Amino acid sequence: MKEQLVTKKILKWYDLNKRSLPWRKNVSIQKRQYYTLVSEFMLQQTQVATVIPYFNRFINLIPNLKSLAKVKDKKLIKLWEGLGYYSRARNLKKTAQIIFKNFKGKLPDNFEDLISLPGIGNYTASAILSIAFNKPYIPLDGNIERVLKRYLYLKKEKDIKKENLIKKKSIFGTSSRSSDYAQALMELGALVCKPTNPLCHQCPISNKCKSLQKKDFDLTKITKKSIDKYFLLKVYKRDQRYLLIKNTKFNFLKNLSIFPMEELSKPKNFNENLNFKLSNIKMNIKIQYFKNSGRYQASYWIDKKKLDNYMLPSFTKKIVKYLERN
Ligand code: SF4
Repeated sequence: MKEQLVTKKILKWYDLNKRSLPWRKNVSIQKRQYYTLVSEFMLQQTQVATVIPYFNRFINLIPNLKSLAKVKDKKLIKLWEGLGYYSRARNLKKTAQIIFKNFKGKLPDNFEDLISLPGIGNYTASAILSIAFNKPYIPLDGNIERVLKRYLYLKKEKDIKKENLIKKKSIFGTSSRSSDYAQALMELGALVCKPTNPLCHQCPISNKCKSLQKKDFDLTKITKKSIDKYFLLKVYKRDQRYLLIKNTKFNFLKNLSIFPMEELSKPKNFNENLNFKLSNIKMNIKIQYFKNSGRYQASYWIDKKKLDNYMLPSFTKKIVKYLERN
């Protein structure tokens, strides 16, 4: 495979500048595949610096696919606590179980089988194929997208649509070191072509970068419309304890412990007590205290002084803190 100049330059830069990350350790092929799977699930929606301690703890306690397939939900969610988007953890376990059931315990090495697994979409499948299996895929994450948009000076909405970026990424070429190359491009975006103040003087491809030529590094964003939703949050308090339920009703924080809540349709004169942002949903929450404990399935009481003993999403913890302050 003949490498283009741009590919060579990026790989050379990567060899000299890559960060030492726990999932990049020199390990056996099987471990590498497992590390890639776990880290890619964790890195969906979460920054590298936040993921590192979670990854280390996870790998220590759940060291391989087999232990992941058998892990107790309680332990799994506890290890994920604070990372948010808990469906990732549940999908990760389901994926491990399906791998044992349908793929003889081996992480699939082709796109179709990978995207059939829970929690694995086009991006994660490409990342696994390139990083774990050294196949010539370039996973288009936020970092690579930014390098591409700046390098080619893509500013118009139609130019920055996913389908167009997927076509355009071919300018990066391919390498026989596909695993390193995918990570090199991500690393270039993370360390050099940063969202604000890109470090162009350190960039291996600066000589042909159109944004640098134009001295315009602003990125056009397609903003997701924020949706307002209104909720009545019911607080049942007994002594020092609050009543929580397992959420089987709402699509967010599915199966996690929340206060009993009801969604209200566009109420008049809604005076919310607090707001919470979940993805593009702005949750307007009105809090109301109730005397009787109500009738809820899968409900239980938590002691406000022992919050750390429970597996609670940060959403619920924030509400407890708010209640204690007010
Ligand atoms: S020269 Fe600057 S703007 Fe262009 S790709 Fe490199 S870091 Fe990004």
